[in-house]
Amino acid sequence: MAKKKCDQCKDEITTAFRVRHLSLHYAQKEWVFLCDDCLNEVKPNNSSYKYGGTWKA
Ligand SMILES: [Zn+2]
Repeated sequence: MAKKKCDQCKDEITTAFRVRHLSLHYAQKEWVFLCDDCLNEVKPNNSSYKYGGTWKA
């Protein structure tokens, strides 16, 4: 089964949330993949947060 790595904690995950959460991500037009835990860390009160879809293995 294909897996992705969380860009923040580097855990291998089977469900990844495609998001932008830094102004850098907009400047570089890139998306990062996060696990559930990291998503909940970066999301609160983050005006740069943007959800781009969910990836499943
Ligand atoms: Zn993570």
